[in-house]
Amino acid sequence: MAAVELRRQTPANAPSPHESPAMATLDFDTLADLLTRIFIRHGVAAEHAALLGRNCATCERDGAHSHGVFRIPGYVASLDAGWIDGQVRPVMEDCAPSFLRVDAANGFAQPALAAARPALLARVARNGVALLAIRRSHHFSALWPDLEPFADQGLVALSMVAGIAGVMPPGARKPVFGTNPIAFATPVAGARPLVFDLATSAMSNGDLRIAAREGRAIPPDSGVDRAGRMTTDPKAVLDGGGLLTFGGYKGASIALMVEILASALTGGQFSAEVDFSTHPGAETPCTGQVIILIDPACGAGAAFADRVATLIAMLREAGQERLPSDRRYANRARAERDGITLDDATHEALTRLAS
Ligand code: NDP
Repeated sequence: MAAVELRRQTPANAPSPHESPAMATLDFDTLADLLTRIFIRHGVAAEHAALLGRNCATCERDGAHSHGVFRIPGYVASLDAGWIDGQVRPVMEDCAPSFLRVDAANGFAQPALAAARPALLARVARNGVALLAIRRSHHFSALWPDLEPFADQGLVALSMVAGIAGVMPPGARKPVFGTNPIAFATPVAGARPLVFDLATSAMSNGDLRIAAREGRAIPPDSGVDRAGRMTTDPKAVLDGGGLLTFGGYKGASIALMVEILASALTGGQFSAEVDFSTHPGAETPCTGQVIILIDPACGAGAAFADRVATLIAMLREAGQERLPSDRRYANRARAERDGITLDDATHEALTRLAS
């Protein structure tokens, strides 16, 4: 299968004011179905493909474009290279009353979470907290779609995933960390859950690659070259250098914690242990994911969601206009009203991949 590139519109490839690209408008189910067919066509079991198709369409719908259809070529490359097993069934192990382990067995992380969800919810209902440790799993998406449904059910949720080494620890000569995202979700009385979901690198790997392709400088303090010198040249970062964590050594400690909880604790590989050399072209990291659920009724009781709402009201009253997830929910409302738009070239490329 020839590599397929789905380019998102950027300042450099945007049409001139005199031309506008032809756009396709799809409703959520149509896009999810198209993406599901791509996964099936490239070797994923139908029930897992449906989860992945909806996950990717959910990102596109909410304007989380770095993990929407932009990622499909990477999924396809990994599947076609035989790097992921799209058919394998996750294996669940009961470790302790509040601790579940799942071996994704070189499959995707999302089916592993789906398999564990009923047991995980039963554990948190019984014990007040529950931890899910997923290992040998490929996570190539955003984390918020994993967590938001738990907050919708009144739970507080945290998740972390290790990735592919491309981020330098402070003073290091080679990358050790992945972009290692961490996400948090909480119920809010009278409102949608508040969810934040952020990479612990100063910028995302996708944005770094787009800047390199377009010859744009990256912000200062985002990356270093192969000699460890600060650079704003994205090609120097990609050519033996590395990204930096956000917030200097403080962000580096959070990236370190992600490696420990998402990999050492789960039994997955560290970011620096992911080795694509036997499967050229593959892109998805095979590491681990941790999910921690807390039933807030065990703490402040029913007042919890009200207390969070009070805090959010304080933030807004103090002048914080934008809170995490505001942008996504606004995009979601727009997409539900007007549909999800893809430029024609992207829509055609996806349709070809599905057929
Ligand atoms: P951003 O920096 O764009 O956003 C991070 C979070 O901050 C979001 O929750 C966002 O809310 C919120 N936010 C952004 N701007 C503001 C603001 N001005 N005020 C208040 N809140 C704000 O995301 P990243 O580039 O760090 O990460 C993007 C995605 O990449 C994440 O979903 C992450 O899970 C994913 N990722 C996945 C990896 C994997 O291996 N699977 C690896 C690395 C990253 P909102 O959502 O509303 O914009």
